[in-house]
Amino acid sequence: MNNNLANIKKSIFFLNKNECVAIPTETVYGLAANAYSSKSVKKIYSLKKRPRNNPSIVHYSNLNQLKKDCEINKNFLILYKKFCPGPLTFVLKLKKKSRISRIVTNNKKTVAVRFPKNKLTQKLLKLLKYPLAAPSANISTKISPVSKDDVKEEFGNKIKFILDGGRSKIGLESTIISLVNKPRILRLGGIERTKINKVLNKNIKYDRTNKKITVPGQSKLHYSPGIPIKLNTLKPKNNEAFILIKKRKKSYKNYYYLSKTKNLKQAAKNLYKILRMVKNKNYKSIVVERIPNIGFGEVINERLKRASAK
Ligand code: AMP
Ligand code: MG
Repeated sequence: MNNNLANIKKSIFFLNKNECVAIPTETVYGLAANAYSSKSVKKIYSLKKRPRNNPSIVHYSNLNQLKKDCEINKNFLILYKKFCPGPLTFVLKLKKKSRISRIVTNNKKTVAVRFPKNKLTQKLLKLLKYPLAAPSANISTKISPVSKDDVKEEFGNKIKFILDGGRSKIGLESTIISLVNKPRILRLGGIERTKINKVLNKNIKYDRTNKKITVPGQSKLHYSPGIPIKLNTLKPKNNEAFILIKKRKKSYKNYYYLSKTKNLKQAAKNLYKILRMVKNKNYKSIVVERIPNIGFGEVINERLKRASAK
């Protein structure tokens, strides 16, 4: 039996015992538990110190499994066909007979759902009899983990098992789109919104200010390294870490590059890794050069704004 299969079996063992297991996804690592079991899901919230009013995303292996829990519609099917599995989360109406724990949805009549792309996690989901609720595997408001080591840094030995699936390919969270009424984007993320607009053939509104819905991405401080961050800066002071979008000819020890050549997708992938690296080097503050506000640049800027919120 290869190592991966043994580790998947180990994950199943703990999940079936109502425990949490960290799982790899293409966006970030998730802290997963049986979405049908309140006892299991409560453990996610206490480990993460996540407020209970912040609902979690449920991860499925296939469409039939998802249809047991929520209502789908035409827009869902169009987007599903184009982007799933992948970094796109849908908010849909819950079915009355859905077995999803009320803790996952915070008693709402809607639920956020996704089909992750990481092969190990797909295999794990296929072998389970339930979907997995899985918010990011970090302490609430802190930087999301993009590798097994990051998860370890967040939780030490407080969690039973981490399924190691290598580094997350996208490196930041999924885009969230609500399809409950008129389509609305609730969080920017791994699928650029221009792509969604193109597929649905309309301009989907980005609802960043919706107060009725609690989205962690919408709360003020999030994705935070725990030290001040200043954006759109031209030059750092000596004791500040300087994050740049592209490599400079003249470099210094406190310069950290998101990409070599201003590749915004690459930069998005490196964002959390570099924020974590800088945090661990004990700088007193971080300054960031201006990042173009297009495509993944828009997502990076948004995460940085949240990370620098007071
Ligand atoms: P995380 O798992 O930490 O990336 O966060 C999951 C995101 O999905 C949060 O922003 C939640 O608020 C959002 N979410 C989950 N369920 C719902 C829902 N029913 N309606 C709107 N947003 C939701
Ligand atoms: Mg999170």
